[in-house]
Amino acid sequence: MGKLTGKTALVTGSSRGIGRATAVRLAREGALVAVHYATNKEAAQETIDTIEGEGGRAFAIQAELGTKGDVHELFLGLENGLKERTGRTTLDILVNNAAVMGGVDPESVTPELFDRLVAVNAKAPFFIVQRALALMPDGGRIVNISSGLTRFANPQEIAYAMTKGAIEQISLHFARYLAPRGITVNSVAPGITNNGSPVFDIPEAVEEMAGMSAFNRVGQPGDVADVVAFLATEEARWITGSCVDATGGSLLG
Ligand code: NDP
Repeated sequence: MGKLTGKTALVTGSSRGIGRATAVRLAREGALVAVHYATNKEAAQETIDTIEGEGGRAFAIQAELGTKGDVHELFLGLENGLKERTGRTTLDILVNNAAVMGGVDPESVTPELFDRLVAVNAKAPFFIVQRALALMPDGGRIVNISSGLTRFANPQEIAYAMTKGAIEQISLHFARYLAPRGITVNSVAPGITNNGSPVFDIPEAVEEMAGMSAFNRVGQPGDVADVVAFLATEEARWITGSCVDATGGSLLG
């Protein structure tokens, strides 16, 4: 029996990258996983195929975060999917993982780009937590994915890093609010992690990125997923309001 047998989980942005690895990892521990995506239906299906191939259970939900009605649409899909499979709408584990990056220098950040980053990376996760509380039993788990960039300067990602600072605040304050229910709320801050994007096919770029980690390699999605999965278990019951550094020692200097 897995550590999460009988539990249900929602992982936002789990069609690809860290989210996919997290969905697969939670399902491997026995959780029924809602695999959320924005546009890439095929990728979400690949996540589900991987989970089912290992004998796990999962279903897909589409909702573009950062648009009007986004959280409502997400939860309609979630509640329908859970009800169909379990007869209930209980959500034990929430992983706020979906996010978009900026990638422009500070003087080129437009109000439109800023608003989008905030809408997807900070506003949506806040309201997802708020909405999830009605479905989450005592002892539930919330993990918000931050970034090492809340502690390591990268001017090209100033607005993105601001949204990650916000997500750490969501964890801190909701942790206090939800402690009476035994619900833990934590952040996990990855460092550079190979999410399959084309830059990871360029050996020189990979070598440079690897040099940032004390272990001299780029992170793999599974490196982060294992940390998230631990925080989702009963064994992590004494950890709340924390931000776990999952940067492979990139901040050690
Ligand atoms: P990817 O870019 O590989 O995947 C992003 C996921 O989020 C996809 O599932 C995508 O869905 C979904 N998504 C993107 N935009 C939206 C939206 N507007 N609405 C709904 N879903 C959306 O992500 P990573 O694995 O690289 O990153 C995962 C998390 O880790 C993020 O929070 C990121 O900030 C953080 N992080 C990543 C690092 C890295 O080096 N990779 C480093 C530090 C932090 P679809 O497939 O449909 O587009």
